[in-house]
Amino acid sequence: MFENLSDRLERSFKILKGEGKITEINVAETLKDVRRALLDADVNYKVAKTFTDTVKQKALGMNVLTVVKPGQLMVKIVHDELAELMGGKASDLHLDGKPAIILMSGLQGSGKTTFSGKLANMLKAKNRKNPLLVACDVYRPAAIEQLGVVGQTVGVPVYSEPGNKDVVAIANNAIREARAKGNDVVIIDTAGRLAIDEQMMDEIAALKQAVNPDETLFVVDAMTGQDAVNTAKEFNDRLDFDGVVLTKLDGDTRGGAALSIRTVVTKPIKFVGTGEKMEAIDVFHPDRMADRILGMGDIVSLVERAQEQFDEKQAKELEKKIRKNQFDFSDFLNQIQQIKKMGNLKDLAAMIPGLGSKIKDIDIDDSVLKSIEAIINSMTPKERSNPKIINQSRRMRIAKGSGTTLQDVNRLMKQFDQMRTMMKLVTGTSNSKMMQMANA
Ligand code: GDP
Repeated sequence: MFENLSDRLERSFKILKGEGKITEINVAETLKDVRRALLDADVNYKVAKTFTDTVKQKALGMNVLTVVKPGQLMVKIVHDELAELMGGKASDLHLDGKPAIILMSGLQGSGKTTFSGKLANMLKAKNRKNPLLVACDVYRPAAIEQLGVVGQTVGVPVYSEPGNKDVVAIANNAIREARAKGNDVVIIDTAGRLAIDEQMMDEIAALKQAVNPDETLFVVDAMTGQDAVNTAKEFNDRLDFDGVVLTKLDGDTRGGAALSIRTVVTKPIKFVGTGEKMEAIDVFHPDRMADRILGMGDIVSLVERAQEQFDEKQAKELEKKIRKNQFDFSDFLNQIQQIKKMGNLKDLAAMIPGLGSKIKDIDIDDSVLKSIEAIINSMTPKERSNPKIINQSRRMRIAKGSGTTLQDVNRLMKQFDQMRTMMKLVTGTSNSKMMQMANA
């Protein structure tokens, strides 16, 4: 995500490296580069110009500082302005209504249905809500089915009226049903078109007027760059929506949409989608995004994701097992599954400060985890809890069963062994040994 922009900005700051102080000339030179980097990242022309003008003013106004190097100062100013450009602070959802009604809008394929499921899932898990999903995309029968599948995946009921084309009636019936069944949030998925279309706009505007949502969200594919910004403007002119959802940020997006949309429509980005899975949703934090763009990593989000996915009780139990040297293949499998829930490996690695720009050309392949999983899944429960019994013939059977090679199985066995040795060293009985070594 935003790799090119990060690289380019890093290079612009180098102009200031070695300079003793900030001057009109070196600032102008740096900012010319910054502006070019922004334009190449598909940032709106006016937004890029205003941005660099503001940064320039701030930088020149800070001439007196001597403790901070000009390069560092510039990174700081650009960081703060980037965060400001994206809205400063994270924005909350309005969920006051009883039930709270959330209306999704956006073009077809932007990710509305997927996001409706992700949001329902998140509200259920984090806010302890009891959502109802409503299928108001009445033109494509497949769309109703798709929402059904999404609802099933996240364990949230879906209201639909196949055959009925009156979206206002469907939405009103759904809200009535929500009240009757105790659903406190109603998420309405609507029909999109491939491009802006009057009929679609009329329909969603009428729907908005009829159900008076607490929150109207505009969902847009970040990969579409400036088009995303233009579409946002047209939807906002008609709908006056409350917030933006930027999807597909896991792809090779250049960053233009994320950086321009807020200024053009004066509405905050509230969420981002970072994958096809139901867990791939993040609350949008402008300051953390600025960190990421400047290659400072995003350790806060990484920790939060870990906290969401890892169960503290489980972690304590695991620690106990490690202490007793009872960590086995079932625990290992469990760990892998938890890591997978956090997102793809490359995305996770990119959140670690300093690593993002270094790993961009390295192919980190999630299929490594898949083959490890397959190998462990091919072991019998006895083998998993007592790896010592896995002899050559068992290894051959496991390789065959998992569709891997004997070499793969051997490698995993060896790594597992090393891991256990490491764990033993840092915990439990070996503490005394380490103390002895330290005292020697
Ligand atoms: P809708 O027509 O607006 O309802 O869009 P869908 O929810 O059907 O999404 C269109 C496609 O984009 C589907 O293949 C989704 O799996 C995919 N998609 C949605 N959100 C994301 C995302 O954040 N990342 C990626 N990589 N794909 C996504």
